[in-house]
Amino acid sequence: MTEARDTGNTIAEHLRFVRGRIDAACERSGRSPEEVTLIAVSKTKPFSDIMEARAAGVIHFGENYVQELMQKQEQFAAGGETGSIQWHMIGHLQRNKVKYLIGRTALIHSVDSVPLAEQIEKEAARKGQTVRILLEVNAAREESKWGFDFQSVFPAAGEISAFPHVRVLGLMTSAPYTEDPETNRLYFRDLNACAREMAAAKLLSVSDSDFRGPVLSMGMSGDYEVAVEEGATMVRVGTGIFGRRQYAAPESGEQP
Ligand SMILES: *Cc1c(COP(=O)(O)O)cnc(C)c1O
Repeated sequence: MTEARDTGNTIAEHLRFVRGRIDAACERSGRSPEEVTLIAVSKTKPFSDIMEARAAGVIHFGENYVQELMQKQEQFAAGGETGSIQWHMIGHLQRNKVKYLIGRTALIHSVDSVPLAEQIEKEAARKGQTVRILLEVNAAREESKWGFDFQSVFPAAGEISAFPHVRVLGLMTSAPYTEDPETNRLYFRDLNACAREMAAAKLLSVSDSDFRGPVLSMGMSGDYEVAVEEGATMVRVGTGIFGRRQYAAPESGEQP
């Protein structure tokens, strides 16, 4: 399906390519491109890459590690840049790190247990804030991944939606790594159906001022087009924008 290949070299060129593919997927599925938010996943990448993507119009950035997110936020603030960035926490979050994160994110995508949501409620209440979250679903039931299964996410949302300082806007999933994105289509379809059912049962907040719900955060570099066809409202693209990650030397500033 994805016969076109990105031949660009700069972050701006990669972005143009990815946005074009999102628009085409919207067109194929009768959706409007405004319904899909592109989150540039900048984990392990240097701050200069964020500034390059920001200059090319990216507003939403996704990070996986609390410490790295905080560092990059501080760098951005110190630069005195005009215009803001919306930060998304997309990686597994430990309960003891929650206190650092409150007030720093537009959305936490990776809430994968009721105790984690309880911790967010506790810290948010302490700071008098409301925190927007998604519930992470392990759609393919992979051993290596965090998240609720499709059964347990309903009672969990029932508990969490009663927390006064937490607002559950929707669901997030990371589908299995695959060479053929079609193999993930049914996971995305299932997540969409699950979110609709939860919204109908009033388990999700669908009237947030910034993000129209229910939010469906699904689709990464290998499968975002299929995810958009299946109703994704947020796609999280790292490699497709910033190039391959080198975990051994995250600050080396390698180019894609
Ligand atoms: C790293 C990461 C991404 C981006 O993955 P790519 O394949 O590089 O696009 C998206 N979502 C989560 C949760 C991630 O950890």
